Amino acid sequence: MAMERKVASMRKLGMSVSGMLVLLAAVGFPNGGVLLVNADSSQSDADTRAGQFVARHDTEVRPLEVASQLAWWNANVSGKKEDFKIKEEAQNKLDQALANKDKFAELKALKESKISDRTLARAIEVLYLQYLEKQVDPALLKQMTSKSNAVEQAFNVYRAKVDGKEMTDSEVRKVLKQSKDSERLKAVWEASKGVGSVVEADLKAVVRLRNEAARKLGFKDYHVMALFLNEQKQEDVIKLFDELDELTREPFRAAKTEIDAKLAQDYGVKVADLRPWHYQDPFFQEAPAIYATDLDIVFQRVDIQQLCRDFYAGIGLPIDDVLARSDLYERPGKSPHAFCTDIDRERDVRVLANIVANEYWMGTMLHELGHSAYTSRNIPRSLPYVLRMESHILTTEGVAMMFEKFSKSADWLQKMGVAVPDPKAFNETGAKMRRNQLLIFSRWCQVMLRFEKELYGNPEQDLNKLWWDLVEKYQLVHRPDGRSAPDYGSKIHICTTPAYYHNYMMGELFACQVHHTIAREVEKTDPSKAIYVGDKAVGDYMRNRVFGPGRSLSWNALTKHATGAELNAKAFAADFGGK
Ligand SMILES: [Zn+2]
Repeated sequence: MAMERKVASMRKLGMSVSGMLVLLAAVGFPNGGVLLVNADSSQSDADTRAGQFVARHDTEVRPLEVASQLAWWNANVSGKKEDFKIKEEAQNKLDQALANKDKFAELKALKESKISDRTLARAIEVLYLQYLEKQVDPALLKQMTSKSNAVEQAFNVYRAKVDGKEMTDSEVRKVLKQSKDSERLKAVWEASKGVGSVVEADLKAVVRLRNEAARKLGFKDYHVMALFLNEQKQEDVIKLFDELDELTREPFRAAKTEIDAKLAQDYGVKVADLRPWHYQDPFFQEAPAIYATDLDIVFQRVDIQQLCRDFYAGIGLPIDDVLARSDLYERPGKSPHAFCTDIDRERDVRVLANIVANEYWMGTMLHELGHSAYTSRNIPRSLPYVLRMESHILTTEGVAMMFEKFSKSADWLQKMGVAVPDPKAFNETGAKMRRNQLLIFSRWCQVMLRFEKELYGNPEQDLNKLWWDLVEKYQLVHRPDGRSAPDYGSKIHICTTPAYYHNYMMGELFACQVHHTIAREVEKTDPSKAIYVGDKAVGDYMRNRVFGPGRSLSWNALTKHATGAELNAKAFAADFGGK
C-alpha cells in the first residue's frame, strides 16, 4: 500500500452545454433550462433558486476548474517553472471565483431553506462547503497557493545526493530495500530527508497562513476546519483512531518484535541499535521485505501496464482510454510520485506514474487505475456535475487500496497468466506482508493524524521533537541519535494534501468492508479467496453500489449503501487477525 499516492484534489469538474440540460433535468426541471423561466407553481421557490445557482456555477466556474486541473497535470508532468506558474495562476482564478461573497451568502441562505429535491439539496450542500473553504481574504489565499506551490516544486526537483551522486526516488528506495550496509543506509536515508530542510521555512509559513485563514472563518485551527470541510469532526476521527490504536497495539508490537529480530540479524546489529534507515521504507509506512521469498523477482518480465489493462477489462471496468492519456514512465523533472486525476468529469481521466518492473509499481498501478474507474467514466451523466465525482476521498482511496492488494497474491497473478515459480511460498509471504502492512500502515497513520492535529494546534512548538516522539510512541522506531532536523517536512502530503492522511486509514477500513461484501454477496466465497479475475459481476457491483451514487451520498451513507453497514473496523480486524 505504497502511500506516495494521491488522488487529485476535489476540484475537477466538467460539463458541456448539452450536459447542462441533463443537469437541469436531473435536478427537477422536466424541460431543461427552458423551465427555469416558467417554473412550475408546485416547484418550491427554494428549488428554483437552487437550480439556478447550480446551473450558473456550472457555466461560470466549471471552465476555471477544468483549466486548473489541466495546469496541475501539465506542471507535474514537466516539472517546469513556467508550468508551475500557469498552474498557480489557474488556481488563483478559481479561488477568486469561489471566494465570491454574494454567492456564498446566497448558498448559505439556500442551505438553510427547504429544498425538496434531494439531489439538488445535496448539490447545494457540497457547493456550500466548496465555497466556504475559499471565504478568506484573497491576498491570504494567494500567499497560501504561492508558498504551497514552492514546496511542491521543491519536491519535484529534489534528488537525494550521496557522495556527490544524485539519486532518483526509485534509486533511494532500491538502496533502502537492498543494502545491508548500515552506514550506506544511513547516508541514503539522511540524504532523502534533506528535502525537509529545503522546504521547512515555506512549509511553516503555509501552516501559519492556513491557521489564519481558518480562524477568520470561525474555526479553532486549520485541522478542525479541513475535517469539517470533508464532512468529518475532529473528535469523531480521533475517537475512531483511539479505537484503532487499542485494536492494533498488541498485534503490532508482536509483529514488530519479529521484524526487528530479523532485521537485526540481516544487518548484523543489535535490536537496540536499529534505526529508521533499517526499515526499508523512508517512513516505515510499508512492511519491510524480510521474508524468504522476494516478490519482485516475479515482476521482472511482467508488462505491468498490459496486466492492468487485462484485469480491469476482465471485471468489466476497462481502462484502455485512461492508459492512452496517461504519462507512465520516469523522466527528469517529472513528479516522482503517482496520482490519478479526472480532468473534466467528461471521461478525460489520466494517471501519472513512474513504472518500474517490481511489486511496488504493480500495486501502485492497480491502485491508480482503481481510482480511474471511480470517476466520470463510471459515474452516470444523469448526476449533476457537482456530484459527478467520488463520494469522498476516503471512498476512492478505499477502492484503490482494495485493488492494489492483488499484487501480493500468487492466486491472482497465476489466474492473470503470470508464471509464479513457487506459488505457495509467494502466497505465504504475500499474506504475511499484507497482514504486517495493515498493522504497520495503521500505526503510521496514527503518527500522521496526530502530528497534523498538533502541528496546526501549536505550530510554534518543537516540531522535530514532536515528530519523533510520535514515531517512537506509535511506530516503536528509535529516533536517530543526536539529530534534530525537520524530517516531518520530507513527507510531501503534509504540504500538498493537508489533514488528508487519516482518510487513507479510513479508506482501508472501507476497502476491507467492501471486499468482504464482494466475497459474501458477489463471489460467494471466503474473503481470502475472492480475487475477482474475469468476474464481470464485480464490475457491476462496483458500478451500482459504489461508483453510481457519486457524491449524491455522503461517505457514511455510501458505505451503508455499498455494504449494508456503517464504516467500522470489523472486516479490517478480521483481515489482520488472520481470521
Ligand atoms: Zn490513492
